[in-house]
Amino acid sequence: MSYDSLFSKDYKGHPRRQDEQRRTPRELLAIRGRLIGMAAILIPMLFAGIALESQGKTPPEPSPLRAVPDDSSRIRKVLLLPAHPESAPLAAAPEAKASTENVLSIKVLAGDTLSTIFTRHGLSAATLAKLQATKHGKRLARIRPGQTLSLYMNEQNVLQRLILPLDIQHSLHLIRGHKNFHSVQISKKLKTRLNYAEARITNSLFLAGKKSGLSDDLIMQMVDIFGWDIDFALDIRTGDHFTLIFEELYRAGEKVANGSIIAAEFVNRGKAIRAIRYTDASGHSDYYTPDGHSVRKAFLRTPVKFSRISSRFNLRRKHPVLHRVRAHRGVDYAAPRGTPIRATGDGKIAFASRKGGYGKTLIIRHGSTYSTLYAHLSRFARGIRSGKSVRQGQLVAYVGSSGLATGPHLHYEFRVRGRHRNPLTVALPKAKSIAKRFRTDYQRHGHTLNSRLNLISRLTLAQNSITVAKKH
Ligand SMILES: [Zn+2]
Repeated sequence: MSYDSLFSKDYKGHPRRQDEQRRTPRELLAIRGRLIGMAAILIPMLFAGIALESQGKTPPEPSPLRAVPDDSSRIRKVLLLPAHPESAPLAAAPEAKASTENVLSIKVLAGDTLSTIFTRHGLSAATLAKLQATKHGKRLARIRPGQTLSLYMNEQNVLQRLILPLDIQHSLHLIRGHKNFHSVQISKKLKTRLNYAEARITNSLFLAGKKSGLSDDLIMQMVDIFGWDIDFALDIRTGDHFTLIFEELYRAGEKVANGSIIAAEFVNRGKAIRAIRYTDASGHSDYYTPDGHSVRKAFLRTPVKFSRISSRFNLRRKHPVLHRVRAHRGVDYAAPRGTPIRATGDGKIAFASRKGGYGKTLIIRHGSTYSTLYAHLSRFARGIRSGKSVRQGQLVAYVGSSGLATGPHLHYEFRVRGRHRNPLTVALPKAKSIAKRFRTDYQRHGHTLNSRLNLISRLTLAQNSITVAKKH
């Protein structure tokens, strides 16, 4: 899917007209007026910011800048961008006749069943049985606390229609026919709008996000996207900042949920990295760098080239030295003392020292999610110490038998979010670049989003320098 259309000039959100050449002079004037209006707001913002930054002086009375809210919240929604085509409804339903009908909105409470609700509202068991007999009637048994049922009653207080919301997009309608009810599942149109947010970290990532009005879910999405390049536990510094362009889902004009981040920039210690979401024609979505490489990095399956596995991942293994059952949360590779050990992925050394029975141990963190551990080492490679970055395949240590070991071997552990996983079977993340046949499409798509990120960072820069100037 391409988001090109999202950034078309038609920023007011109307579908692009097919008959552009047939616009009347009056319409054209109106369009030009809109463009000039937009430029009148944006261009002074850009230039005021640049001028202030270069002079470092008190700002002139910034009359056009009043259009920009004060940066206390650090989120600006001045550019609500138009959406991509809406999802089509699964089935069309006749609208409920509102005039003579009386609607009961009933919130499902803990312990409620449709039967208790019906009793409470004086509806008959016979009606309930008819509802349950419909095609989708079984779903009525799965109502959950917090859902709101809508019951449409006629003047005689006879149930005409029952609506059960299923999720943000779907609802189940049970409609009275001549004798019985019939059921239909309806998919409401969801509109996607783009919004963006920018935040500067002064205290913690989550506080910065909260201050900008971002949901935890969006922040977690960002951590997942950049987790390969940035260790969010160790690398974040005051002054780091990020910009997100993300989807918001609207139903009938009301925001119902956040969608995905579609482009993001994170500036970590002055170094900017960007990621752009792209869905190729085969439906595969992933995040890529502006030049088309996956932001995710692959792992090598094994850290030693020439070896044999002497002990596997086994939670009920009898320990060869301690002679009692003790989980073996890694894989042992028997190899001669001094065999080179390679980092299985790009990362940062979190630990390089002695660690009890593990002997000389190396722990590498690979972003926020993964870490690997190498134990019983004879020694570390040159330059290997805590805090150092390593590349995938880099020589990091040598096989030995330090700690509780019967002979020279490498004990290797693979952890996902702190939990031990079998290094031989764990699903390793893939790092595929954009397939050749999608590259042109991606470049077009990426270019648009990149320009959008550029625009936002220029606006941010302008706004920040104004804020700084105001404080003098
Ligand atoms: Zn082991």
